[in-house]
Amino acid sequence: MNHFELKSVAGTGATTLHVEDVPLQEIAEQFQTPCYVYSEAAMASAFRGYQQALAGRDAMVCYAVKANSNIGLLSVFAKLGAGFDIVSGGELARVIAAGGDASKVVFSGVGKTRQEMRDAIATGIFCFNVESAAELDRLSEVALSLNKRAPIALRVNPDVDPKTHPYISTGLKCNKFGVAIAQARELYQHAASLKGLEIRGVACHIGSQLLDPAPLAEAAQKVLNLVEQLNADGITLSHIDLGGGLGIRYRDETPPTYADYLGPLLKVMAGRKEKLLFEPGRSLVGNAGVLLTRIEYLKPGEEKSFAVVDAAMNDLARPALYDAWHDIDAVTPRAGATASYEIVGPICESGDFLGHDRLLVLEEGDLLAIRSAGAYGMTMSSNYNTRPRAAEVLVHGKHVFQIREREKVADLFARERVPQP
Ligand SMILES: *Cc1c(COP(=O)(O)O)cnc(C)c1O
Repeated sequence: MNHFELKSVAGTGATTLHVEDVPLQEIAEQFQTPCYVYSEAAMASAFRGYQQALAGRDAMVCYAVKANSNIGLLSVFAKLGAGFDIVSGGELARVIAAGGDASKVVFSGVGKTRQEMRDAIATGIFCFNVESAAELDRLSEVALSLNKRAPIALRVNPDVDPKTHPYISTGLKCNKFGVAIAQARELYQHAASLKGLEIRGVACHIGSQLLDPAPLAEAAQKVLNLVEQLNADGITLSHIDLGGGLGIRYRDETPPTYADYLGPLLKVMAGRKEKLLFEPGRSLVGNAGVLLTRIEYLKPGEEKSFAVVDAAMNDLARPALYDAWHDIDAVTPRAGATASYEIVGPICESGDFLGHDRLLVLEEGDLLAIRSAGAYGMTMSSNYNTRPRAAEVLVHGKHVFQIREREKVADLFARERVPQP
């Protein structure tokens, strides 16, 4: 089901883009722009997609908080029964504030501090996904200082090529994440000797925006071989975490369905009694959000015409950072001949674009919806050029909830000081 659709405006021949039952036009009037707008139904339907594909298996879906960490969104997943994959103490605090269940939290990341470890142990998280030998030692020491044992999985690098963008592929030998699968057996032995650790599982995450199920199944097979070696060594695991990474359609990609994506992997895991964990981020929220922006100026040029909008790379970094494509639609499409526009923001950088060469019929003041902006949009935003961060709004049917206020300029330098002589 499409949760962002053109629907007709009562009493006119015009159509305008709605999020569920709410016209984006109304949201722009009420909350101004730029504004992130999310569909609760879209998130719930993506989450249920995973649940259905995993029906009958002992499995836990842990939403990857870094994709979008607004506590309003987290609360939606908490109510659906999700677990959470976090990468910092800050994200743990958000999960708790959103009503999430700490006992369903997995903690990933290569740089966990002692304080983050203490807090996570005290909160009673499900598992630490440990990314190095040094982290095993530190975690054991921290747990013992609290008279506790920390539950762990070792994040291994199965060395499969996920065939995605090099910046978002993580499962190859040559990157900073996890430990080489060839060293894992030895490290588990070491972990078993540490009094502050309780070995629970194994984890991997091979990359992001994956469109092919084969690399995941290949990784699962390699992880399973390791699990069997560990069994032979007398180390039994109760769960296998296969990370996140399912891709979404930004432009013309055709991502597999949940069932097609998980099918080959579930085949590999057939008959295994370990609980399966997944850590999807993008596929749960990416297409559940748009960035709503208004055109400030049209700037016709000889070679290129520009539409200067009030959103910029500080709001949505993906185009500038990865040269990523996001569909851009007029909220209320006009009739007439299209022209090609560069959709750019007001930031003083040539890289500040949101879309190149878009065929649209535009006038100053028109609203645009930048699609597929629910994941790695707001969480990667910044205050570059002293731009207050956007408001965020969650739609549920005909209900609209503001889940983040727009920042005020004074907020941005409230912690700065002019030195007093
Ligand atoms: C980023 C990340 C995820 C989520 O990835 P998506 O591509 O958004 O599904 C899951 N697990 C780990 C360890 C990550 O770093």
